[in-house]
Amino acid sequence: MTTPDGLVAPTPTRERFVDSVPLGMCVLDERGCILQVSPGLLGSLGFRPEQLIGQAFGPLLPHGMRLALVRGHRQLIEQGGVLQGECVLLDGQGHARAMLLEACRLDADAGDRRVLVVLVDIGARKARERELQERNRVLARMAAADSLTGLYNRRRTLEVLQRLLRAANRYQRPLVVAMIDLDDFKGVNDRHGHVVGDEVLVAFARLLKTLSRDSDCAGRIGGEEFLLVLPESDCDGASRLLDRLREACQSLRFSAPGLRINFSAGLYSRRPGDAITTLLRHADQALYAAKRQGRARQCVWPTD
Ligand code: GH3
Ligand code: MG
Ligand code: MG
Repeated sequence: MTTPDGLVAPTPTRERFVDSVPLGMCVLDERGCILQVSPGLLGSLGFRPEQLIGQAFGPLLPHGMRLALVRGHRQLIEQGGVLQGECVLLDGQGHARAMLLEACRLDADAGDRRVLVVLVDIGARKARERELQERNRVLARMAAADSLTGLYNRRRTLEVLQRLLRAANRYQRPLVVAMIDLDDFKGVNDRHGHVVGDEVLVAFARLLKTLSRDSDCAGRIGGEEFLLVLPESDCDGASRLLDRLREACQSLRFSAPGLRINFSAGLYSRRPGDAITTLLRHADQALYAAKRQGRARQCVWPTD
């Protein structure tokens, strides 16, 4: 059935409802041109009927999605069935709108085949999903971070160490762990108060982060105890890093005049097949040796 202006007219009774429903619907002809469009779709996209009727549906989609639409439309016309998926439509102002699309073929009496497209605006749902994802990311970051210093907390540090150790064991790559403990930190708290103690921890953590590489892992695993994991490093390289850290510590200034801090550290370089407990035990033994030998130094396992 064709109108005087060359458009294929909708079947009078069966599809007339599309012209009145407040839902998002349209009917396409065999070529993908819009025959009918519901007030609901016009309203949500901000078009007038004459802007859409007789036009191809394709340009309502961003370029990247048009081919998929053409294929889906052809498949519906040739084979029938139902097409479902999410897509993006460009509204009257050219803004992208997330939509849920469902389409099926309408077999008209006259033999011409049409496609009914139902569109639900899921922009608000998508925005909520994005907000939720962002909130989850923040929560995950918070759960992994030490609240005072922002470094990885103990649990996260050990998880990262486990992952880095597994990779190092598998590819037989070097990996060093450095267990670091601030010297006489109880004295800092006792002499200057907890607030200054916290200030020291934050400043030290910032140095650790600044001086290590992005591929290293720095975590606070206890009160004034930190763990550095250095993939692709040996004990010499790690020791040089700790020298730089020590030097930088000497230059730190705090709200308590005259306060200087230092640290002791134990280094251990991975051996084939080591478990995480072995790494931590040996690094801890080396740290203990550094404390015993007078603090303000680093020792490498095995110690004398
Ligand atoms: P050493 O040189 O042998 O390491 O002595 P130390 O005083 O550093 O070690 P000790 O284990 O005796 O004291 C650690 C202190 O760290 C005791 C504890 O109150 C303090 N501490 C632990 N967590 C925090 C924190 O979050 N903030 C502050 N200000 N102090 C903390
Ligand atoms: Mg300690
Ligand atoms: Mg200490």
